[in-house]
Amino acid sequence: MPKTCSQCGKPAIFEMQGHLLCLDCGERLERIQMGEFMRTAAAHNQLAASLENQLPFRVPRINIPSQAHNIGSTTFNSVKIDRSTVGNVNTGTIRQLGDSIATIGQTNTEFSSKVQSFANELLVDQTLSAESKQEAIEILATITDDIKQEKINQRPRQRRSLIERMKSILEPAANLATIFATIATQLQA
Ligand SMILES: [Zn+2]
Repeated sequence: MPKTCSQCGKPAIFEMQGHLLCLDCGERLERIQMGEFMRTAAAHNQLAASLENQLPFRVPRINIPSQAHNIGSTTFNSVKIDRSTVGNVNTGTIRQLGDSIATIGQTNTEFSSKVQSFANELLVDQTLSAESKQEAIEILATITDDIKQEKINQRPRQRRSLIERMKSILEPAANLATIFATIATQLQA
């Protein structure tokens, strides 16, 4: 029996993400993924730029291949993918996070750069759902804002539960969970 596309039933020629896909459906999926990559990379680069204004070192950028621009913009126009990948994480939240990290960096460079690497990894992560990613960024922004404003001792119980929530959000993304583990204690302190 010939293998068929799981989406439309035409003969399959790709296997992607555990699905057999035909030429058309495979190409569509690839475009969608490229569009997601583009938005993620753009958001990362935006955060990197805003952090750099306030940090004494350069934050690595993600190179966006020029070919990707074409594919990406086609995708933006033709496929209305949910606008919920990281590109859609509230830019105000990202700015607030960058702000807090920079302020923390004035007194604790090592900790702030760890938080910053975690934030960067979080933004480029492809494992978590868009909602999870957004929630994780909001949690990180809330906690770092507390630290920035030295409210750190004022809401220990709330912070503990935020950290527990973060851990459960990160469960599907092992590398993020590992990085978070290196800052969790200090975030909790
Ligand atoms: Zn198909």
